[in-house]
Order: sequence, then structure tokens, then C-alpha cells
Amino acid sequence: PASEGISYAKLKQILESTPDASKAREWSKYYAAGPHLAGKNLSQAEWTQDRWQEWGVKSEIVSYDVYINYPLDHRLALLADGEVSFEATLEEDVLEEDPTTSLPDRVPVFHGYSASGDVTAPYVYCNYGTYEDFEELQKANISLAGKIAFIKYGGIFRGLKVKRASDLGMVGAIIYSDPGDDGEMTEENGHKPYPEGPARNPSSVQRGSVEYLSVAPGDPTTIGYPSLPGAPRQSVDGKIPDIPSLPVSYAEALPFLKALNGHGPNASSFSADWQTGGLAYKGVDYSIGPTPDSITINLMNKQEYVTTPLWNVIGIINGSISDEVIVIGNHRDAWIAGGAGDPNSGSAALNEVIRSFGTALSAGWKPLRTIVFASWDGEEYGLIGSTEWVEEYLPWLSEATVAYVNVDVGAIGPYFRTAAAPVLNQAIYDITAQVQSPNQTVKGQTVRDIWNGHISTMGSGSDFTAFQDFAGIASIDVGFGTPGGPDSPVYHYHSNYDSFHWMDTYGDPGFLYHVTIAKIIGLLIAKLVEEPVVSFSAADYAAGLEKYLTSVKDLAHRSSIDDTASKHIFSVLDKAVAGFRKASTAFDENAGALSALLASSAVPESSVELFKSVRTVNSKYKLLEREFLYAPGLDSRTWFKHVVFAPGLWTGYAGATFPGLVEALDDGNSTAIAKWVAIIEEKIVGATGLLEG
Ligand code: GLU
Ligand code: CA
Ligand code: ZN
Ligand code: ZN
Repeated sequence: PASEGISYAKLKQILESTPDASKAREWSKYYAAGPHLAGKNLSQAEWTQDRWQEWGVKSEIVSYDVYINYPLDHRLALLADGEVSFEATLEEDVLEEDPTTSLPDRVPVFHGYSASGDVTAPYVYCNYGTYEDFEELQKANISLAGKIAFIKYGGIFRGLKVKRASDLGMVGAIIYSDPGDDGEMTEENGHKPYPEGPARNPSSVQRGSVEYLSVAPGDPTTIGYPSLPGAPRQSVDGKIPDIPSLPVSYAEALPFLKALNGHGPNASSFSADWQTGGLAYKGVDYSIGPTPDSITINLMNKQEYVTTPLWNVIGIINGSISDEVIVIGNHRDAWIAGGAGDPNSGSAALNEVIRSFGTALSAGWKPLRTIVFASWDGEEYGLIGSTEWVEEYLPWLSEATVAYVNVDVGAIGPYFRTAAAPVLNQAIYDITAQVQSPNQTVKGQTVRDIWNGHISTMGSGSDFTAFQDFAGIASIDVGFGTPGGPDSPVYHYHSNYDSFHWMDTYGDPGFLYHVTIAKIIGLLIAKLVEEPVVSFSAADYAAGLEKYLTSVKDLAHRSSIDDTASKHIFSVLDKAVAGFRKASTAFDENAGALSALLASSAVPESSVELFKSVRTVNSKYKLLEREFLYAPGLDSRTWFKHVVFAPGLWTGYAGATFPGLVEALDDGNSTAIAKWVAIIEEKIVGATGLLEG
């Protein structure tokens, strides 16, 4: 079969011309005008479903009962000799220019999945709170047990900062936003803070989840299966923090940092990574502490834990082929009333994509493959809506899904960024080269012309995780971010200032990047749905495996395993990858030839033989990613099933490749090394067999 009703060319033209800046702006304004915390956004779920239906896409609300927390009370105070010397308000300033900041039901600053507690203790400056940072503190003999960790945001997922602090016996964690990480756009460099200028508002606070994402995403009481009513519930021990934490602004971090001055060694005597504090001009000398017993923090955090419904909106356009499905998703929930950037720049764009496909439907289009659209709830707490949905529909998704496309932050600046499974690399190069950039400093330049072409490996931090790492579905994440550097307004991530006003003024005035990401997503879906031969490249997977193997070799050289052992490991894996390289190149060539044959007029549409060959090729492309799943999962986190990709154990956001083997090498555990070499070899040989078979 081929697409019906209208031609592929006509479809592309609709997808390019329908997305509209004033419409995107309207959706942005709608979503970012009221609190839409997970489990508290039913009206926005219903509104979304109504719009999708109105545009001709059949949609429903799919609900799960999930275990999450809402903030009740908090306190952060600096005590000197038992007296309060500073008490943080833990409030972000109300700004006259920005109506979102004065809404009556603003969400207090807090951490998703944080532990309740009331602790008073001396404290230690812990830099970014990475594994390496804590190692350096231990090497310097800084006393950590019983102390509160004072940590900067940045680098890694915040939950892992709290986890490491807790593992080392610390009793609480404060995480603040240091303007040293904002590039050039700081008050120190003469820029006015938001709303007068593009620098960080000193009172801005980054909320966010502290779930131990490296154990598993999703509802921590139902790891591996859906949170349906009546589902058995597991203990949350070891999955969420057991020590209280709070986020704080740099304005309110200042008194705490200054009170550390002169106590313990100075960050300047630590490694390079510790030299980036941006508050020296405010009198902070970045001493590490700990503070003496007379200088303490009182950290009180009171959370209410509930099991409550949340709502995904799922839309579907049935194609002629029902068992070749493309899923596209964006989360709808935000920590704050705003969320104009995260996630609703993506939500606004997705709406424009759906409206465009609706336009094509009313022109008579029927897609070749099936498209599923998702508006996820509960991403912010830990990718909950998407993870529970994947866990519920796993058998069908495994059987039928070709690819998952994710858009989270869709447009907060002009810098195209993407992370993808390697089979999708060519597709995104191709599509970005078809879409004009809003930046026309050189006339006619496309998004591809301006983009440096870097594609990140899949880590975590958004809703593709369950698709890629649990279900083994090739996934891609796209969006326009800020470039950093002198021209880049500070993005107030997870703060009240990620508002419609910020977006309209600094993020994407004119909403042109919203429109551009909508075009990219629409055309990418169309390519994946309409091209008779699935537009994957297996050879790019081989190239990826070669590259990842090289980096594991570097690691092995630095590790404790001896050279002969290491030579053996790599001769086994080199051989497997070489076999896969050969098979994938041949497979892609065959697929390309089929595709060319179909495009030529030499073959009648109805050729049964040809149709069968195409079906076989497509089903192999579809199932290729599944070959890399190992059912028992990674040793330390069994929910993660993919042997090639996982979030880094101690980074969270950044991806790790060959995670099982890398962790075994890190531990110097020769049994585990041998086990993972055998598993990886078997998976690569299996994938080779699929392509050759
Ligand atoms: N995107 C959210 C964050 O970075 C959630 C990530 C997660 O829980 O994996 O805070
Ligand atoms: Ca679950
Ligand atoms: Zn997001
Ligand atoms: Zn977020």
C-alpha cells in the first residue's frame, strides 16, 4: 500500500505551511497561564483532548494512579550560636511585568520525591555534588557525615546529588543556582536581571525531581509494571531520598555561602571544576567548610505523599498498516504556573503538528503507517506518565512500534539540539536540511546549515527513556535550546520566570522557533510514516557501536584489568561489531535498492513479491533496536534493559554506552566484565542474524 488521498509531496507542503506563529503563541499562553503540576491538571488534559479532536484526531485520556508528593511546609534558616541570623523566604519575587509571578496559587519551591524532615547541622560546600566532587571532599578529609550538603545546580541530575550526599551519611541537601553557570549573562557582567534584562533574576529557584532516576524512572511503587488501580505497591526504600532537600535562589544562598568564608580549605585548592563559582563579586570566597558547630542550617521540609490519578492524552491516526507505528510525545505537566519553555513550547508545537496533520486528513489523506500522539503527565516527577504507559502497553509497543519522537523543551532559543538512536541520524539530517531557519542572515539557510550536526547519545531526563531503554524502541529527542555565551538570555528553568512573558520577550519572541520545531517534527513523522521503506540506517548503528567500543577501550586502558584480558575482550567485541557492520551495510544497500525500485515506474504498484520484500525489510528495521535488550537488565538497575544505552549511573542526564560493561570495568570486577562481554557479543551477533536472516 501507499499513502492515500493526497500525495506525499502535497502532505509535506501542508506540514510546512500550516504551523502558525500566532496559534503557537495562543497555545503557549493557554498552557502557561495556570498551575499544571502532575495530578492537578485535568482541565488542561481535557482541553488538549478537545483541541486534538476538533482538529480531527481521535483522542482519549489514559489515567494512572501514581505515588507523588505535594509541598506542605518548609524552612531554611542560618543559625549562629543558636540565634537566627538569616531566614530565607523561599519565595520568588513577584514582578509587575510578568503576571504569572503573581498568580494566587503559585507552587512553592520544593523537590519532587523529597523526604520530609527537620534537621539542624553544620554544612559543607559540595560544588556540583557529582560523584567526583564528593570523592574530592573525601580525599581532603572533609567531615561529611551528619552535615548538610550545600550544592550547586548543574552538570548532573539533581536527584543523584542528593543520593550521594545521603550515601555518605549527610543529613540534608540545599541546592542553589549559581550565576557562574549562566555564561556571560550575569549581573556581574553588567546585564540587567529579568524582567529588565536577560540575566538571571536573583530570586529565581529551580524546582525539580530528586527521584533516584538511576534506579528506575516512573512511579517508584510500581517499577516494571503500570500503576493501574489495584496494582500491588512496592516499598520506595532506596528509590527516593531519605534525607530532606530544598532548592534555593542565589540571592538567598548568599548569606549561607558567606557564612562559610574562611572555614576549611578553599575551593581554589581543589580541581578545575571547582573554580566556577560566580558569586565572588558578592563577597563569597567559596570556602568548603564544614562550618563550626556554632554555625548551622535549620532545614525543615514537610511533604504530603498521596496516590493520585494523572492523565495522559493519547491521540491516534490509523494508517493502512496497523503494526508499523510511530509515536510522538511531549509532556504537559510543569512545576510552575508557567512552563512556557519546559514543556509547553513543545506542547504548543505539538498542537501545531497535530493541527497540520488534521488539515491533511480533511484533504483526504490516509497515512501509510499509524501515528500515535501523546501529551504526557507527570514527566517532571520522574517521567511517570510515559513510563507507566510504556509499561502498560509493552507487548503491543514491542510488536508494532518503529520509532518514538520526543519533544520536551521545544523552543527557548535558536540553537537546534537533538539526541537520537543512531538508526535515526540520517532522517534528522535530511529533515533539518529541508526546513528554513528563522535566522536568514544568509538568505535561504536551513536549520541544518546553522546546526553543527552534533547528535547526542540517548541519556535520560525526558520521556524517551522508557521507549529507548526499557522497550528498545529507536527514539529521538528534538528542540531548540539556548546556545549559551554572550548572546544567550538566561533560561529560568523550573522557575516561576519560565513564563509566557519571558518567552514572548526573550526566549522566542515572534514564536518563529516554535513554528520551526513544529515543521521539523511534522516532516520527520511524515518521513517515518510515508516512505515505503522505513528511513533508517543500520550502518549508522554499526558506526555508533564502533565509536562506543573505542571509548570502552580507552576506559579499559585506564582501569585495573591486565592487558591480555583486555585484548581478549576487545577481540571478541571487535569481531562481533565487524560482522554487524558488514550485515548492516548490505542490508541498507538492499533497502535502498528496493526503495529506488518502488520510486521508479518499472514495477506495478501491485507487485506482490516486491510488497513482501518491503514488509520484511521494514519489520527488520523495526525490530533491530529490540535485539539489544537484555531481559534481566543491568546489574545495579534491572529496569534498564538496553545493553548499548542507559543514563549514566552518576550523571542521570548524560548517556552512557555499553553501561553494563562500563560499570563492570569501573568496579574492576572480572566476573562481571566477562559476563557483559558475553551478553554484548550475543546481542550484536543476534542483531547481525536478524539483518542477514
Ligand atoms: N525532566 C525532569 C528533570 O530533569 C525529570 C527528569 C527525570 O525525572 O528523569 O527534572
Ligand atoms: Ca510502573
Ligand atoms: Zn520537560
Ligand atoms: Zn522539566
